Amino acid sequence: MKTFAYVRPGSVEEAAAAFADHPGARYLGGGTNLVDLMKLGVERPETLIDVTRLPLDTVEELPDGALRVGAMVRNSDLAAHPVVRDRWPALSQALLAGASGQLRNAATTGGNLLQRTRCPYFQDLGKPCNKRQMGSGCGAREGVHRDHAVLGHSPHCIATHPSDMAVALSALDARVELHGADGPRSVPAADFHRLPGDHPERDTEIRPGELITGVVLPAATGGLPSRYRKARDRASYAFALASVAAVLRVSDGVVAQAGIAFGALAHRPWRARRAEAALLGAAPTAAAFEHAVDLELADAQPLRDNAYKVPLARRLALDVLAGLVPSATL
Ligand SMILES: Cc1cc2nc3c(=O)[nH]c(=O)nc-3n(C[C@H](O)[C@H](O)[C@H](O)COP(=O)(O)OP(=O)(O)OC[C@H]3O[C@@H](n4cnc5c(N)ncnc54)[C@H](O)[C@@H]3O)c2cc1C
Ligand code: SF4
Repeated sequence: MKTFAYVRPGSVEEAAAAFADHPGARYLGGGTNLVDLMKLGVERPETLIDVTRLPLDTVEELPDGALRVGAMVRNSDLAAHPVVRDRWPALSQALLAGASGQLRNAATTGGNLLQRTRCPYFQDLGKPCNKRQMGSGCGAREGVHRDHAVLGHSPHCIATHPSDMAVALSALDARVELHGADGPRSVPAADFHRLPGDHPERDTEIRPGELITGVVLPAATGGLPSRYRKARDRASYAFALASVAAVLRVSDGVVAQAGIAFGALAHRPWRARRAEAALLGAAPTAAAFEHAVDLELADAQPLRDNAYKVPLARRLALDVLAGLVPSATL
């Protein structure tokens, strides 16, 4: 591993200043992804700015019923938090579906959002990969791509985003809070990750040097029925082949609010806006769910070896949605 300098700021402002002083730096959260990539030579930062001691490790109930989660809150603490389990259960379920107990104890909320793709070509310096080095080609497109994207991919990159947590945050209308040279700002979680387009090297809308300071779960999705389900090769310690997070509010016999996001189908959590629009005002029946999900997945463009993802995602979505309404309705 290349040698690097290590700094440990005590405040958000100090962290931003440290980045300004060391433009080639990386923020260090739990290190469970960054350090692995450094060992592989994929990441070669000059400096690590350890942000784990920043005072961003609390979960705070806000007066309007929202919940602010500090960027340093560990995945296991967030999954176990009683308010999250009670009011935004899909988030707790998504976190518990990810990685292993040991990893979740180390991984942070901010680092989880910024973890890189698990595409094996990205992790192998000997292989072409536009995300690692634009112009080198995409090894996966004609290579091994069983785990890759079926929606929103580009000729340059077909990678998927691996986070389970990010899928739940997208469906639950969370916002990502950031702090950079221009001060604080926030971005909807559903818009935080990008499609690859012509710039697969950019996973998210984060600006150079910006620090994730937290995530806010809004009151509007709190207390509603929500669920997360993930299909994977093993029952634990495996990334998703397809996953679904959904939240639903039914009022007077019709769907009054819906948030649906797919995981492992695209370069970002895939917010299913078309399916949501189709459900609004409809009775929450099996037929309505099928119509909505089919509408969303109609644009899927599977590759040679991953067409299985489309029916898999469809069945998961139908199960998740059905689980959000009393069975008598279906
Ligand atoms: C074997 C294995 C299995 C796994 N399985 C799953 C799984 O099934 N599902 C899943 O979702 N994940 C899985 N993971 C990934 C794991 O969830 C991530 O590695 C973890 O969430 C990353 O968090 P971290 O705090 O360790 O981030 P780090 O590794 O510290 O950082 C990741 C990236 O985020 C940046 N960063 C960190 N914090 C901040 C911040 N506050 N502001 C700005 N930038 C920041 C870093 O610079 C780096 O680029 C697995 C990992 C391993 C090793
Ligand atoms: S899918 Fe993306 S990450 Fe994987 S090899 Fe192609 S360009 Fe690289």
